[in-house]
Amino acid sequence: MRIGVLTSGGDAPGMNAAIRAVVRTALSYGDQVFGVYDGYKGLIEGKIQEFDRKDVSEILNRGGTILGTARLPEFAYPQVRELAVKQLKKHDIDSLICIGGDGTYTGALRLTEMGIKCIGIPGTIDNDIASSDFTIGFSTALNTACDAIDKLRDTSSSHQRCSIIEVMGRHCPDLALYSGICCGAEYIITSQTGLDKDQLLKDLKKNRLQGRRHAIVVISENLTDVYQLAKEVEEYSGYECRATILGYIQRGGTPTPEDRLLASRLGSYAIDLIHEDIFGVAVGIMKNSLTYTKLEDALNMTNNRDISLEKMLTKTQ
Ligand code: ADP
Repeated sequence: MRIGVLTSGGDAPGMNAAIRAVVRTALSYGDQVFGVYDGYKGLIEGKIQEFDRKDVSEILNRGGTILGTARLPEFAYPQVRELAVKQLKKHDIDSLICIGGDGTYTGALRLTEMGIKCIGIPGTIDNDIASSDFTIGFSTALNTACDAIDKLRDTSSSHQRCSIIEVMGRHCPDLALYSGICCGAEYIITSQTGLDKDQLLKDLKKNRLQGRRHAIVVISENLTDVYQLAKEVEEYSGYECRATILGYIQRGGTPTPEDRLLASRLGSYAIDLIHEDIFGVAVGIMKNSLTYTKLEDALNMTNNRDISLEKMLTKTQ
């Protein structure tokens, strides 16, 4: 077989481990593998190169993606996707492994409808792909966020401050929820909980009057202007308050062993599926078992997240 692999959308630590597993597993079947640079953009531009074993040496532990990634909103247009199909035909590539988030999955679904055998691998730090319990990159981003929050806690405690920490996660609460639990945050505010500013201000004031030395508030991105919120907390509660936006440091870094393992398992499994003539699906791990879901179902699934986490929080916060 002649199989292509690309990474698309936001980069995530562990994408390289997935690329390595795809390439090595395919080679073990006697396939030819082609790295496509810069996502769908590179695909239509024909940035395609054959890979052998050594092309993926020493990348297992590296963050980012050796293939590069790019955004190409025009990929939503059929005439632009035709250019991609032409490039794949030119290289005689019949299958394509697409590593990324839901945008990448949508692109892969559309290409499948045009006759290319695509498989999606969940690579995004947000953990917002419901067809896998965890996505590649989430564990590393969680580690980075926890490390930063622990450090901010040290200084908050010394100075008797309130610290508001904004973490990534767009529409998915997981990064805020998990990092908040792991770091003992007093408040965790996500797209699911919503921000009740009046309540937060009242609670913080009460804490301050009760003599609590500090407060940690972990909040998902895009919910409010955290610098403005910090000002209001300072004015109302009596705490000195600082806001920190963790931003892109959450995207980088050496992947954790969990992300390397997840990426290796999913990359290898994607090639096994191609050999069983299964495509148009997204691979994942659910309840520690490898699984695959049709791309259109994966895109429409809502996350049946484990509510025991929220329940536990009400007892331990
Ligand atoms: P992610 O894959 O991390 O969700 P994006 O949402 O940026 O990241 O999507 C990555 C790429 O997938 C886009 O730049 C675009 O090329 C492609 N894509 C996104 N949405 C669509 C769509 N509706 N149809 C076809 N391709 C899409």
